[in-house]
Amino acid sequence: MAKDKVIVITGASSGIGEATAKLLASDGNKMVLAARREEKLQQLVSDINANGGTAIYVLADVSKLEDVKNIAQVAVDEFGRIDVWMNNAGLMPLSEFSHGKVSEWDRTIDVNLKGTLYGFDAALPQMRAQESGQFVNIASISAHVSGVASGPYAASKFGVWAASEALRQEEVKSDSNIRVTVVSPGAIDTELPQHVTDPEQSDAMKGFYGSTAIPADEVARSVQFAINTPENTSINEIVLRPTKQF
Ligand code: NDP
Repeated sequence: MAKDKVIVITGASSGIGEATAKLLASDGNKMVLAARREEKLQQLVSDINANGGTAIYVLADVSKLEDVKNIAQVAVDEFGRIDVWMNNAGLMPLSEFSHGKVSEWDRTIDVNLKGTLYGFDAALPQMRAQESGQFVNIASISAHVSGVASGPYAASKFGVWAASEALRQEEVKSDSNIRVTVVSPGAIDTELPQHVTDPEQSDAMKGFYGSTAIPADEVARSVQFAINTPENTSINEIVLRPTKQF
């Protein structure tokens, strides 16, 4: 198991980010944890450090480039390098286009897609200088399948998938040793469905998640696997979903 990697996780204050932070910290890695809710990050960092791990937090809104660049700066100032950058922050405010929730579409693209691209911009110079590093980008089953009410969300996640593949090929071309991994989960038991403001979709998600979702720890284990393969082996995508999800 890799120890001593410097690992940045965006959206670490709950759900998949929090579960992954705990698991990778328990392996002995140094964690740089970012999100907007300070109390949640403070609690997580103090729990990790009390259990013998090493973690710091950085407040950041990933839709702001300067915030994302600051995460990278803090990681390098504190730990001297960035081995893994996990673009995880996201939201899923499902609704049909005819309901006209344009500000939610904007936010979905800004956080899920642009936040991921900003992560590339923030971490690539350091990884290129190191001639090593790994991006872990959390996409979704919705990076592969679109449907009624998931248009902006699926567009953001198709985008994450597409940008990840472009980055992977660019890093092969540049001979940098930088790896790119996409993790595409199905229904995971987190706060994510709580972002749904559309009553019809909110009810549907409560029912679906209540009966189907699996724990965030399962995604954390996928990330753990992907970052622990030898540097000459690149896990490009892991798709996982509840056994009972179509
Ligand atoms: P949560 O709602 O539990 O976590 C979302 C995280 O993103 C929180 O830590 C939140 O922190 C952070 N976040 C939201 N907006 C911003 C922002 N503007 N800047 C910084 N951080 C932000 O949901 P999940 O853990 O489920 O979601 C994590 C990722 O997994 C998302 O990208 C989601 O799309 C993806 N995913 C989830 C699935 C699921 O079924 N749960 C399925 C497929 C993919 P804070 O509010 O403190 O900023």
